[in-house]
Amino acid sequence: MSESYDVIVIGAGPGGYVCAIRAAQLGMKVACVEKRETLGGTCLNVGCIPSKALLSATEKLETAQHQFAEMGIKASGVEVDLPGMMKFKDGVVDANTKGIEFLFKKNKIDWLKGAGVVKGAGTVEVDGTDYSAKHIIIATGSDVASLPGIEIDEKRVVSSTGALVLEKVPETMVVIGGGVIGLEMGSVWARLGTKVTVVEFLDQILPGMDEEVRKEANKIFKKQGLEFKLSTKVTSVTPDDSGVDLTLEPAAGGDVENMRAEIVLVAVGRRPYTDNLGLAEAGVEMDERGRIKTDAHFKTNVDGIYAIGDVIAGPMLAHKAEEEGVVRAEMRAGQSGHIDYNLIPGVVYTHPEVANIGKTEEQLKEEGVDYKAGKFPFMANGRARAMGCTDGFVKILADAKSDRVLGCHIIGPEAGTLIAEIAAFMEFGATAEDVARTCHAHPTLEEVVKEAALAVHGRPIHI
Ligand code: FAD
Ligand code: NAD
Repeated sequence: MSESYDVIVIGAGPGGYVCAIRAAQLGMKVACVEKRETLGGTCLNVGCIPSKALLSATEKLETAQHQFAEMGIKASGVEVDLPGMMKFKDGVVDANTKGIEFLFKKNKIDWLKGAGVVKGAGTVEVDGTDYSAKHIIIATGSDVASLPGIEIDEKRVVSSTGALVLEKVPETMVVIGGGVIGLEMGSVWARLGTKVTVVEFLDQILPGMDEEVRKEANKIFKKQGLEFKLSTKVTSVTPDDSGVDLTLEPAAGGDVENMRAEIVLVAVGRRPYTDNLGLAEAGVEMDERGRIKTDAHFKTNVDGIYAIGDVIAGPMLAHKAEEEGVVRAEMRAGQSGHIDYNLIPGVVYTHPEVANIGKTEEQLKEEGVDYKAGKFPFMANGRARAMGCTDGFVKILADAKSDRVLGCHIIGPEAGTLIAEIAAFMEFGATAEDVARTCHAHPTLEEVVKEAALAVHGRPIHI
C-alpha cells in the first residue's frame, strides 16, 4: 500500500474536483484520480466550456453579419477563420483546465494520474499501485451514448466531442436528437454556414421543458434556418469517404426517406460511465439504467463508497454535480448538506437562450395542482428592443392559493442569467407578489421577470 488518504475522489469533473477542493478546505487529506491528461472532466474539456466558447464566437459572427446593418453599423470583410476560432476555444479550455490544476496545488490535493479501480471499501488501485482511503467518492461522470447499429467514428459520424473539432465547415449536417446538445452544436454549425437538419424522435424538441417554451423554441430556431424533422427516427447511417447516407422513418412507422449529409452528429443522450471501475467485483449496486445507486447521503450499498454527479440519478448537469460534491464533502466533515432537486436550473445556450426551474405547466396539471400562470413577452420590454432581441417570453407559475412560485420558464435574451433571480426567490419560498413588489432596475431584461410576476395577478403594466 502506498499512500493513505481521508478521501479519494475518482474523476476530476465538476463533481469530483469541487468535492476534492471542499474536502481539502475542511481539513481532509485528499487525492483525486483522473485518467485524462487534463483536469476538469467532460465539462471543461469536451462539454460546457468548449461548446460555450464556440457558441459565443459564432453568436458574435451572427450579430456582425445580420444585426450590425439594422443598428447602423457598416462592417465589411467579416468572415470566418475556423482554425482561429478553434484556437480561441482551445485557449479557453486550456485556461480553465490549468486553473483546476492550480486549485489542486493551492488546496494540497494529490492528483493521482491514471485510471482508478475500486478494490472494495478502503482501497483504490491506480496503474498498479494501491492507495487507501476511509472514504471513496466515485465521480466518473458520463460518456456519449449512441443508437443500435450506429457507430460513431468521430469523422463522418460524430458525437459532441467530434462536433467540437471539425476542421472544415460542412455543407450539410444531420443532427440526430433535438435535445440540448443537438440544438447548441446545431446552432454553432448553422451560424458558420452549414445547412443543419435536426431529426427528433418525439413530436417536439427539448423534451422535459415546458410545452409552450418548446413550441416557441422550435418556431424561433426554424426562423434561424434550422430544419426539423419531428416524430422521425433514423434507422440507418452509412458513412463513406465523402459523406453519410441515412434512412429516416416516421416514429409511428410509414414510408422510408433517404437523406445524405456531409456530417452526422449523434446527440441522443449520455450514459453513466463506470467502465473498468471494478464496481461489480466490489459489490456496488447499479440501477436499471446503469447508474450507481445511492441514498440521500450519496452512499452506495457498500460502506465507505459514495457516488456523485452524472454517474448517479438526476439531471446530467455540471452545477448539479458540483452541488453534490460540496454536500458530500460537508457531510463527511459532520456538517449537514441539502440539495433541492426541484430547484436545479436548466439552461440551453442557444440564441435566444432557454431556461427553466421548478415545475412545468404539464407537471402541475398532472399533479392536480391549482396554479396561476403569468406571461410577459420580451417584445414589450424597452431594453430587449434596444438590444434588438425581442423573441420569447418569461412565464411564471404560482400556486393559486398560496401564490408561492412553483416554476419559471424563459425563452429569450440572457434567459440563463434571468433564471437565477427566480432560483433565489424559490429557495426562499417567495410568492409571485414578492417578485412583483421587488424593485427591478430600468431599463433591464429583469423587468420582464417582474412583469410576468405581475401578470400572475392579471396586472402587468406594459401590455
Ligand atoms: P465528468 O465531467 O464526466 O467527469 C468525470 C471524469 O472522470 C472524467 O474526466 C473522466 O476522464 C474521469 N474518469 C472516469 N473514469 C475514471 C477512472 N476509472 N479513473 C480515473 N478517472 C476516471 N452541463 C451544464 O450544466 N451546462 C452546460 O452548458 C453543459 N454543456 C455540455 C455540453 C456538452 C457538449 C456535453 C457533452 C455536456 C455538457 N454538460 C453541460 C454536461 C456536463 O458536462 C456534465 O453534467 C458534467 O461534466 C458532469 O460532471 P461529473 O463530474 O459528474 O463528470
Ligand atoms: P438530451 O436528452 O437532451 O436529448 C436527446 C434527444 O434525442 C431527445 O430529444 C430524444 O428524444 C432524442 N432521441 C433519442 N433517441 C432518438 C432517436 N433514435 N432518433 C431521434 N431522436 C432521438 O441529450 P443530449 O442533447 O445528448 O445531452 C446529453 C446530456 O448532456 C443532457 O442530459 C444534458 O443535460 C447535458 N447537456 C447539458 C447542456 C446544458 O446544460 N446547456 C448542454 C449540453 C449537454
